[in-house]
Amino acid sequence: MAGSKRNVLIKLKLLLGQYKNNKRVQTGLLKLAELCGSVADLSCFYPALQKIIQTYFPAENLYIQLFTQANNPQGDHFYIDELNCSPIDQQLNPDIVDFITSLAKPVLINHDQVAILETENTVSKRAFPTRNPKTRLVDVWLASPLMVEGLTIGLIGVKGFINPNHQTKINLELIKFIALHISAAIHRIRANELLKLYSKDIEDIIFDRTQHLHQSNVNLRKQVEQHRQSELRLYYEAHHDTLTKLPNRAMFIDRVKHAIKHIQRHIDHRFGVLFIDIDRFKIINDTLGHHIGDLLLIQIADRIAECIRGNDILSRLGGDEFVILLDSLSHADDAEDIASRIIEAIRQPFIIEGQQLLSGASIGIAICDRSYTNATEVLRDADAAMYQAKAMGRGRLMFFAKSMREELLASLTLEQDLRQAVLNNEFVLYYQKISNLMHNKIIGFEALLRWQHPTKGLLAPAEFLSTAEETGLIIAIENWVLTSVAKQLTIWDNEGKLNHVFISINLSGKHILQNKSMQQLSQLVLQNFVEPQRLIIEFNEQAFHQQPDHSLINLKQLKKTGVKLALDDYGSGLSSLNYLNNYPFEFIKLDQCFVRSLGANDKNLELTKSLARLGESFGFRLIAEGIESQAQLDKVIEAGCEFGQGFFIGKPVAVENAKSIDDINHCA
Ligand code: C2E
Ligand code: MG
Ligand code: MG
Repeated sequence: MAGSKRNVLIKLKLLLGQYKNNKRVQTGLLKLAELCGSVADLSCFYPALQKIIQTYFPAENLYIQLFTQANNPQGDHFYIDELNCSPIDQQLNPDIVDFITSLAKPVLINHDQVAILETENTVSKRAFPTRNPKTRLVDVWLASPLMVEGLTIGLIGVKGFINPNHQTKINLELIKFIALHISAAIHRIRANELLKLYSKDIEDIIFDRTQHLHQSNVNLRKQVEQHRQSELRLYYEAHHDTLTKLPNRAMFIDRVKHAIKHIQRHIDHRFGVLFIDIDRFKIINDTLGHHIGDLLLIQIADRIAECIRGNDILSRLGGDEFVILLDSLSHADDAEDIASRIIEAIRQPFIIEGQQLLSGASIGIAICDRSYTNATEVLRDADAAMYQAKAMGRGRLMFFAKSMREELLASLTLEQDLRQAVLNNEFVLYYQKISNLMHNKIIGFEALLRWQHPTKGLLAPAEFLSTAEETGLIIAIENWVLTSVAKQLTIWDNEGKLNHVFISINLSGKHILQNKSMQQLSQLVLQNFVEPQRLIIEFNEQAFHQQPDHSLINLKQLKKTGVKLALDDYGSGLSSLNYLNNYPFEFIKLDQCFVRSLGANDKNLELTKSLARLGESFGFRLIAEGIESQAQLDKVIEAGCEFGQGFFIGKPVAVENAKSIDDINHCA
């Protein structure tokens, strides 16, 4: 009885032991599951793990090795042995690591197995310490590979002083279970670390990108600003005159359009446009150069600007043309006041680079009401008024009147007709005899230009010469005159009549203003005249006004061709003595007004006598023009004029209309 009681007691003790052991294992496993589920960092994971594992096995050694790459037994390791309580830098023999890894399952390695493995050359026994140096107890390695998704990521080994024959299966299951949890935990920790790394990378990338984006935005904003600035600059340049910085034609037209729209809505409103042309600007520009011309324009712009009101718009159309838009004009007198102020301001001397320059302004004014529908009409009318102001004697203002439009139209038509006339060769020459007054003998003829207009009939030079000069057509016309008289001389020579005479032609100053046209003229003379000395070229004083020095040089150049030169209309203008003295004229032609005055004005008679004497010294001879009567003829002879022409001697006639050259001769 006592024996069975004892047996029961032993059994109970055994059961109690098993129960305690199971509870310890259970508690350990729970802690393990908890640790593996919550751990976030490997460094605190291993020591905590070791503590839990010690609750299953009487093992103080824990070895964990993690491979850097799956299935490659190189990598981090953690080793705590019974001698060292803190992790040591000792790695398990690679042979053992290889062996455990190759098994791919939990394994219990005891002394005997190591001996077998050593004989198989699988591991070295020395690498596998199998006895506790203190207790000399046999130790055992319980190990398992750490696996994730079929790949070995490392291994766990526990060296314990366990009876290898006791609970081997349970221990293997336990180590397998522990390995599974550890693998999962390590995998999770690594994944988290990787995630953190990625997050960090992504953060860095986002930061970089944001920085980049910010920089791009800054650059973009800079570019947009630069673009905006260059657009503004382009707009400014497209709408302003580069020299004076004033609004240009495009901008002015735009403002006039607005003003027209405004008066279409407000019946009683008016606006005015002033068209300003600077007198003598071209001469200043041509003589003193563009630099001085530019500086003058800038000063003129400033002076005009001082004469206008705040909301008026001053613009430079180009050249020496300025326009002003006088917005909301209450009375036409206001426009007149402003124009007068401008004329006065421009009349004051300008000092440019130390030089005093005198100029003036001619102003046309157009007062605009609802009858105007486009800006060009407005400018055209103000321009027509300005043109009229200039024609009236410059330095004045003129309001536009409808009649001016007709005049402008007529001038435009005349220009068109003249161009056509050059193409169709509609010109003819009339010849007027020039006689030696003492001997009553023809010495030559003056060729005078006529235009046989298709509808208007025969036109005198006064009706088209100024338009021909303005348009530059005069050069082509006079070249024709030159070649025609050359032919006429040849005809007379061939007929054997008048082969001693000369022909005199009138040329515009344009021929001697520019070197190029001067050279063309010389060439034409040399090509067409066998005897250039039988050609007299007449210029009047206006031909030299613009550039006296330059014209003189060209005149001397022209003289080298052999032609003779005459100063026409002397006594009608300034009659400068300079021309008599310094210019290479062979003939001085006394103007008909001067000739007419000889009968009544003794001073002019004396003056002519003096001129005749001067001529003897300076080498020129006098030709009296416009002799209309015997009395006038007597006077010019008395005054010492050697030669003369006029209706009394012979009217200008068309060569082909005269019966014969002798007819002309008989008139003398
Ligand atoms: P001019 O060179 O002084 O020519 C003389 C002008 O006086 C001519 O007028 C002629 O017809 C006119 N005349 C001649 N004798 C008398 C007279 O006794 N009494 C009056 N009242 N007049 C007389 P025309 O032909 O009308 O020419 C006028 C001006 O046109 C010329 O004056 C000349 O300066 C210019 N001219 C004529 N042909 C040409 C030309 O081919 N080129 C240029 N640039 N000018 C020309
Ligand atoms: Mg003449
Ligand atoms: Mg004349």
